[in-house]
Amino acid sequence: MTVSLHPSIDNGIRRGNPDFAGGTLHCHCATDKVEVTIDQQVLHNHACGCTKCWKPEGAWFSVIAVVPRDKVEVVAHAEKLRVVDESAAIQRHACTGCGVHMFGRIENTAHPFHGLDFVHVELSDEEGWQEPQFAAFVSSIIESGADPANQDAVRARFRELGLEPYDCLSPPLMDAIATHVAKSQGKLAA
Ligand SMILES: [Zn+2]
Ligand SMILES: [Zn+2]
Repeated sequence: MTVSLHPSIDNGIRRGNPDFAGGTLHCHCATDKVEVTIDQQVLHNHACGCTKCWKPEGAWFSVIAVVPRDKVEVVAHAEKLRVVDESAAIQRHACTGCGVHMFGRIENTAHPFHGLDFVHVELSDEEGWQEPQFAAFVSSIIESGADPANQDAVRARFRELGLEPYDCLSPPLMDAIATHVAKSQGKLAA
């Protein structure tokens, strides 16, 4: 059987353009769309199986990347945005009209990823965004109702697409988090 992961990767990975300089994201409302400009190429783009990231209808995974927060600007209909969960580490700013998450922001300055916003490049019409690099939190799709017996097929499909599946973040990102913790606790020189 064919495993459906996300519409932007199910038919194969399309390589991004390293020279791509950014573009505009827009929400799914028919009119008065929220628009967010991203003023550089994104980093660490990946598929995510967690239950918090916004996903298109029918997808088990989101596709989400990071970008420095000073490169992200809401340029239209900011009044439609609300934070989904104020208590979450990542404050996801969602459109109250269509439910799409326009960007996720970390306000806790002690958080390892403070300074980076989380964005979904599928909300842009431009081509050239960095392609997904790996799959994160693959086991977590079970929390969304995916059949645990199908997980081997899900991981095999990611490998077939060239994306290594992980049940947390990728090793470089997990190392970055651990390094941040070690420095904050004085175990490594800051
Ligand atoms: Zn909307
Ligand atoms: Zn996620």
